[in-house]
Amino acid sequence: MSIYAERLQAVQAQIHQMQTNLGSNAQNVMLLAVSKTQSASIVREVFDAGQRAFGENYVQEAIDKQAELTELAIEWHFIGPIQSNKTQLIAKHFDWVHGVDRLKIAQRLSTTCQEINKTLNICLQVNISGEASKSGVAPEAVLPLLTEIHALPQLRIRGLMAIPEPTQNVELQRERFKSLRLLKESLQAAGYPMDTLSMGMSEDFGMAIQEGATIVRIGSAIFGARPSKQTSDTQASIGK
Ligand SMILES: *Cc1c(COP(=O)(O)O)cnc(C)c1O
Repeated sequence: MSIYAERLQAVQAQIHQMQTNLGSNAQNVMLLAVSKTQSASIVREVFDAGQRAFGENYVQEAIDKQAELTELAIEWHFIGPIQSNKTQLIAKHFDWVHGVDRLKIAQRLSTTCQEINKTLNICLQVNISGEASKSGVAPEAVLPLLTEIHALPQLRIRGLMAIPEPTQNVELQRERFKSLRLLKESLQAAGYPMDTLSMGMSEDFGMAIQEGATIVRIGSAIFGARPSKQTSDTQASIGK
C-alpha cells in the first residue's frame, strides 16, 4: 500500500472514531483532501485509494492538474482566496467554492454559472478569529450578505467555512469552532437552510468534528508536509 493510502486510511479511521464517540450527536463528515502543491500523479494515487473530493487553493495549478486527471470522477473544491478576475475560471472548473466573503464575488460566480448553466455549491467564509485574520466576513455581517447572495441564481449556499488563525490555545480554537456552529444554527433558525460547516484541518479536525464540522479539509496528514514555495500565490494564501 502506498504511503498516501496508509495516511488516508489513518485519517478516515480517526474521523470514524470521533463520530463513534459522538454517538447520536454525530454528523456526516466529508473528508476533503487538500492537494495544493501536490502533483497530479499523487492525486491519482489518493484517488485510487478511494478518495473522491479534493481541495485546491490556486486556480492555475488546479486547472493544470485537472487536465491530467480528466478521466477521474473527482469532486473539485476551491478553498483558496478568490480574486475577482478568476471567478470565471473558478465557476467553470470547480463543484464547490468555500471562501465566498463578498457580494461582488458571488455575483460574478453566479453570472458565469448562468452562462454555462451550472449550479455551484458555495460556503460563506466567516472570520471567527477577529482582528488577526484578513479574510472572511465578520459574524454579524453574515446574515445581510447571505440575504443578498440567496437572491442570486445558480448558487447553492451550503453553509459556512472558516480558517481560524493558528493558535496553541486549544480551548480558544474550540470556542471559535463552536461559534461557527452557533452562527449556522442561528441562520437556520432565521430560515436559511444549510447543511455544511467546513472547518478543521490536519492539526485540529478532531475538535472541529466534535464541534459540528461536516467537511474537514486535510492536507498534510494525508500528503505529508508541503514544500514551502515562495510565490505570491502562496503568500496570499494561509501562511503555511
Ligand atoms: C492548506 C489548507 C488546508 C489544509 O491544511 P493542513 O494543515 O495541511 O491540513 C485546509 N484549508 C485551507 C483553506 C488550506 O489553505
